Amino acid sequence: MSAVYLFKKDLRREDNRALAYVSKRHREVVPLFVFDTDILQELKAEGKKLGYVVRAVEQLSKSLKLYCFYGKTEDALREVFKVYKPTHVYTTLSYSWSGKERNEKVEQVCKLYGVEFVQLFENFLSPVESIPQRKVYTPFYKEWINKVDLSTEPVADFKVPDLPLPDINRIKLMLKVEDPEPFYPEDCKRRLETFPFEKYEETRNYPAIDGSSKLSPCIRFGVLSLREIFKKVYGKSEQFIKELAWREFWYHIAFHNPEVKDLEFQEKRRGIAWENRQEHIDAFLEGRTGYPLVDAGVRQLKQEKWLHNRMRMILASFLTKVLLVDWRIGEEFFKEHLLDYDQVVNIGNWQWSASVGADPKPLRLFNPMLQAQRYDPECEYIKKYLPELSHLPCPMLQDPLRHKLPYHKPVVNYYDRVSLVRSLYKA
Ligand SMILES: Cc1cc2nc3c(=O)[nH]c(=O)nc-3n(C[C@H](O)[C@H](O)[C@H](O)COP(=O)(O)OP(=O)(O)OC[C@H]3O[C@@H](n4cnc5c(N)ncnc54)[C@H](O)[C@@H]3O)c2cc1C
Repeated sequence: MSAVYLFKKDLRREDNRALAYVSKRHREVVPLFVFDTDILQELKAEGKKLGYVVRAVEQLSKSLKLYCFYGKTEDALREVFKVYKPTHVYTTLSYSWSGKERNEKVEQVCKLYGVEFVQLFENFLSPVESIPQRKVYTPFYKEWINKVDLSTEPVADFKVPDLPLPDINRIKLMLKVEDPEPFYPEDCKRRLETFPFEKYEETRNYPAIDGSSKLSPCIRFGVLSLREIFKKVYGKSEQFIKELAWREFWYHIAFHNPEVKDLEFQEKRRGIAWENRQEHIDAFLEGRTGYPLVDAGVRQLKQEKWLHNRMRMILASFLTKVLLVDWRIGEEFFKEHLLDYDQVVNIGNWQWSASVGADPKPLRLFNPMLQAQRYDPECEYIKKYLPELSHLPCPMLQDPLRHKLPYHKPVVNYYDRVSLVRSLYKA
């Protein structure tokens, strides 16, 4: 029996349970990765973002002979079937809306060719489907932690047939990529080994320091296994384990409430009259709101294709609850830029930040002046990303409403907007 294994968000050979399952059942396997043009277009994946994936695929190609395509996944499979007749096609089970659609298309092609299509569970620590529906994170976490499954099996040796199909070296020539600096898949292992997880709780909230793991791209593309990360961190930082659970909480919410892709989780918040003023949207997207901390965050996102979690929360809160712009516009903006973009996680977090999502708490407002004082006390972060302001005293940069800066005038007055947002959310 021969099989095709389609890699997606599990770009590793080591501790890959889905691949291990296949390797136990088939002596011959055709490993395949498709740079799916529908997905690349949807994610605007080019430059650094694509550069990261290419490097991850190159790294995977060093551990097994991997065939690669550029095009629609269904078409790639048809090309494979012209030269190879497998009994099965395997891939990982998807819970994101776009992932489910892609698997459905693969299933249709397999049906046409009389090939069995099998989706295997991977990329989660606890089974997504078995936790009864929870709307709030803490009760979810209590169930989740008891269901974490670290069991694993090694990938058995399998033969990869020689086929007239392209590999990453050929496909790379068709892609417009940039060096993904400062994120490299080759660094994931080292980062996991060297990051001081025991200090994570103290350091994780300060965007100017290297205080969070920065493992999100490694997790997003499955360069590292979640089980390996969990085992490394367990006993060192419960807070970090809780962050891994947040990721799975958003999948839990999307699984039980698939409508959240387009609609607010909280029904009572489905008709908010967002202002969506174009000049506010432009000022935000171009990083010229006049609030240095917010603008610095936008610059980091655009330059590095990654953003510190506190800054993601500050930006999302500012766009939705200060500028009164629909969270979907912010979700799109992050989609365009984030290297670790994950449809389910991003939507969950944007809704949470806009106070329209799951885990509802009283209307959270992040005051950008107080956030700057508390989390960027020396203005190192602001000065790093807005070097043109680095000559100014820090208290001025932290409070652009009290001090007139030689910079963009604040696009709105935060304090004026607070009462407006409260009344809007009440209505
Ligand atoms: C508006 C908004 C949008 C976001 N969009 C994404 C996204 O598209 N993709 C993404 O991976 N994360 C997203 N996050 C979550 C979080 O900001 C990032 O996972 C984190 O900043 C990545 O940096 P890190 O690896 O250093 O995180 P660490 O603090 O070291 O956390 C470790 C891991 O836990 C997970 N994690 C941490 N926080 C969260 C969270 N709030 N929700 C879900 N998982 C979490 C991530 O996998 C992360 O790599 C978003 C957060 C907000 C507020």
